[in-house]
Amino acid sequence: MVAEAVRPRWCHSMNKGLPESIVRLVGELRKLPGVGEKTALRYVLHMLSGGMNRASDLSAALVEVIDRVRPCSRCGFPAEGDLCGFCSDQTRDMRSVCVVESVGDLLAVERMGEFHGVYHILGGSVSALRGITPEKLRIPEFARRVEQEGIREVIVATGADAEGETTALYISKMLESRGLQVRVTRPATGIPMGSSIEYLDGVTLMRAIRARREL
Ligand SMILES: [Zn+2]
Repeated sequence: MVAEAVRPRWCHSMNKGLPESIVRLVGELRKLPGVGEKTALRYVLHMLSGGMNRASDLSAALVEVIDRVRPCSRCGFPAEGDLCGFCSDQTRDMRSVCVVESVGDLLAVERMGEFHGVYHILGGSVSALRGITPEKLRIPEFARRVEQEGIREVIVATGADAEGETTALYISKMLESRGLQVRVTRPATGIPMGSSIEYLDGVTLMRAIRARREL
């Protein structure tokens, strides 16, 4: 009875008769975005059909990422050492920082090829509704960075929704209250309200950042 209760309901249909370990793997894959039960099962069967080598390559790659990758101590981007590729790249402008909500947003800004500074990943946006206070994000770390690293310009590229706007305003006010001489801007026109930076096309994002406005 207990085993039945912890098994998700879908197990009874599609995975009937499969070994427990496969059912568990399908269950883990289903937690990934965009992967439903059919797709998860197809992935597993595909891995098995190529012999165990394919499956162990995947498993080894996964373990390697888990073992080696940590957030960069400065910006939060995935890194294999203390600093990520951006923070350790001496050709980038360390005095100009683009603040984003997520790794996906950072990659979107980077793909546009227009920004040559460094980044700071907050890990989300301030939301009273969801109980996310500035302290739960990497905002205190950012304040320290601005104080210690001689940062001159901060572009706050948080989402164009209410939470993104609140976060941007909070950061701007926080820097101001600390008396830090830093230009704080926000990507301007062209970003539709409610949009996440990650899903904008490169041209829209590039225009918005070029035409950034003071906060
Ligand atoms: Zn970094």
